Amino acid sequence: MAVIFITAIDTDVGKTVVTGLMARALAAQGNSVITQKLAQTGCGGTSEDIIAHRALMGIDLTEEDRDGLTCSYVFPHPASPHLAAAMEETVIEPEVISAATDRLAARYDHVLLEGAGGIEVPLTETLSTLDYVAAQGYPIIVVTSPRLGSINHTILTVRAARARGLKVLGIVYNSHGGNDPRIAEDSRCVFERVLRETGDRAGIVDLPPIEDLSQPPALDWSPLLAGLEGDDSVRCQPAEQTAPPDDQTWTERLEFDRQHIWHPYTSMRDPLPVYPVVSAHGVRLRLADGREVIDGMSSWWAAIHGYNHPVLNAAIDAQVAKLSHVMFGGLTHEPAVELARLLTELTPSGLEKVFFCDSGSVSVEVATKMALQYQQATGRPARRRLLTVRGGYHGDTFAAMSVCDPVAGMHHLFQDVLPRQCFAEAPACAFDAPWQERYIEDFKRQIESHHEELAAVILEPIVQGAGGMRFYSPHYLRRVRELCDAFDVLLIADEIATGFGRSGRLFACEHADITPDIICLGKALTGGTMTLAAVLTTARVADGISGGSPGEFLHGPTFMGNPLACAVALASIRLLCDSPWRERVAGIERQLQRELEPCTASEAVKDVRVLGAIGVVELHEPVDVAAFQAFCVERGVWIRPFGRLVYLMPPYIIDPKDLTALTSAVLAYSSASTAW
Ligand SMILES: *Cc1c(COP(=O)(O)O)cnc(C)c1O
Repeated sequence: MAVIFITAIDTDVGKTVVTGLMARALAAQGNSVITQKLAQTGCGGTSEDIIAHRALMGIDLTEEDRDGLTCSYVFPHPASPHLAAAMEETVIEPEVISAATDRLAARYDHVLLEGAGGIEVPLTETLSTLDYVAAQGYPIIVVTSPRLGSINHTILTVRAARARGLKVLGIVYNSHGGNDPRIAEDSRCVFERVLRETGDRAGIVDLPPIEDLSQPPALDWSPLLAGLEGDDSVRCQPAEQTAPPDDQTWTERLEFDRQHIWHPYTSMRDPLPVYPVVSAHGVRLRLADGREVIDGMSSWWAAIHGYNHPVLNAAIDAQVAKLSHVMFGGLTHEPAVELARLLTELTPSGLEKVFFCDSGSVSVEVATKMALQYQQATGRPARRRLLTVRGGYHGDTFAAMSVCDPVAGMHHLFQDVLPRQCFAEAPACAFDAPWQERYIEDFKRQIESHHEELAAVILEPIVQGAGGMRFYSPHYLRRVRELCDAFDVLLIADEIATGFGRSGRLFACEHADITPDIICLGKALTGGTMTLAAVLTTARVADGISGGSPGEFLHGPTFMGNPLACAVALASIRLLCDSPWRERVAGIERQLQRELEPCTASEAVKDVRVLGAIGVVELHEPVDVAAFQAFCVERGVWIRPFGRLVYLMPPYIIDPKDLTALTSAVLAYSSASTAW
C-alpha cells in the first residue's frame, strides 16, 4: 500500500492529467490503483460534475467515486479550498479527507492523492496543504511546466516539502505549451541538481504534449516509483496536532518539571524555579508568557552569535537533509574532515591531530587519557597523575572532577573515588599586573617535586571560569609552559569556555603565545546549537601513543564526529571568522568596563573585573538566585549568578543598548546592598 501525494507548482499545470496517466500506467502493471482529490474547486459543484471531469481525464469511475471517497469536498468557486469552502459557508475537515484516504489505502495497492493548486495553498483556516501532507507523511511528486517562473516555484516546492520531512519522489515535467526546447533542457538540469541535494532517490519524468487524452503515450514512471522501493514507511503516523499552550498547560508542565526533571545542580526536593522558554532570536529569549529577556549568558559561553541564527539554521537544515548521523568507526564524512581542517588551521600551531567527542567534560576525560596513554606508550607508566591549579573547573565527570578546585568542587563527596591529583595555588597575578617570579613559585615547587609521577598539567588558560571567574597573567601561562617543557610534562589547555574569541583572542593561549600539547574545545564550538567537543594534540603525542602498545588510542564514543554537530560547528566558526568579532568583543569589553565600574561603589561588592566579553561582579555574600532571577526577568534580562558571582558574557552580536540593559540590572542589584 502506498499513498502518493501529487502536487503542482500552480494550478493548470497538468496535475490531474499526470495523476490519471500515472494511475493508468500503474494499473497496466497489474496494480490496483485509485485516485483521490484533496478538494475540487471551480468545477460545477456537484459530485456528478467531478465524476464527469475525471472521466474526461480518462479516469475510470469506481464505486468509491460514487461513495464520494475519492473527493470529499467539491466547491463551485475557483479559489483555494479554504476560501471556496468559506464561500459555501462550510469548512473542510481534514479528518474526513484522511479517513477517506485510509479506507482507499486499505483496498488498493496505490492511492494517488491529488492536491489543489500549489503546496502552500490553505486547506483550512489554520492548515496549509503542506501542513496536512506533512502530518500524514505522504511521499510527494511535483508537477511542473516550462512557464516563466517555474524553476523558482519548483525548487521552492521541493525544498519546502523536504524541509518538512517529506520524501520527494521526483518531478514530472509537463512540456505541454513549452515552445523552446532549450528552456526545457536547462530546467531539467536545474531540477536534477535540486533533487540530488539530499541523496534521496528521486527522478524526473518528461510528459510530452498530449493531443488525445484517450490515447495517452506510454511513459516510464519508474524514475519516480524507484523512491518507494524498500520503503515500508512512506506513510508515517500523523503528527500530533499541538494547540498553542495556554497558561493552564504551562502551570501543569512546570509542576511536572518540578516533580520529575533534574536541572543543573539542583535539589529534587526543593528546586529553584525555572522559566519556560518557547523561542529565541538574536539576543532575546521569549518566555511562555510572551515576555522577552535579553540574554547575558550566551547559554553558558556557547551562543556567541545569538539564537536562531539563519546561517546556523541553514547549515543544520542542509546537513539534516543529507545525513544526521553515522558511526565514525570505519566511516568518515565531509563535515568532520572540513571541521578538523579548520580547527588545525585556527588553533595554536602544532596542534594537528583531532579527536571529536560529545561534551566538554568528555573531552577532558579524553585529554587525560591521551596524556596517560602517551606516558605509558613512551615507557613511563609511573607518570599517571595530573597537576593543576586551584580555582579551576573542568567538568563534572570523574577525571574532570578530580582536577576541579578541591574546596569549591566536589572532592569532599568523592574523595575515596577520585584519583588524587596535585594542586598548586591559584594564579594570583591579575591579567595585566606586572609580573613577579614569586607568582609561579608554588606551581614550580609542585612540578619539581612531583614531575616523576606527573603525566600532564591541566589548566584553563588566562580565564578560570566556573571555578571563580578569575583572570590571570599571560606570564603565568608562559612560565607554566616553560616548566612543563623543563620537566617533560605535557600541558593540557582547557579552552572549553575561552575558545572562539571570548577572552579577546580566538584562543586564550594566544595571550601568552604558547602551544599546549593538548587542547580541549567545546561550548561555543557549535555556536550554542548542540553539543560537540574536540581534543587536538600534537604529532609528538599522537605518534607516542601510536608507537606504543596497543598502538591505538582507546576511546570512541557512539556519536563521535556527529555530522550535524560538525556541520553547524563549521558554519559557526566560518561565521565568526567572517564577522568583525575582534571589534565586537573589544567594544563589549570597553562598555562592560565603563558600565560595571560604578558597582565598586557598593559595599556589597568585593571586586569588578572585565576581560574580553566577560564582565564579573564579585560580591561579599552569596546571591539569592531565585530572588535575583525574578528581579532580572522583571527588568527584561537573563542573568544567572552563582555563589558570590554575578557575571555577564553576552552573545557577541549584542548591541550597546541591550548590553546597557544587562549592566544596569547588575548595577541596580549590587547597589541595593541590603535588599537581598
Ligand atoms: C563547561 C566547561 C567544561 C565542561 O563542559 P561540559 O560540556 O559542560 O561537559 C569543562 N571545562 C571548562 C573550562 C568549562 O567551562
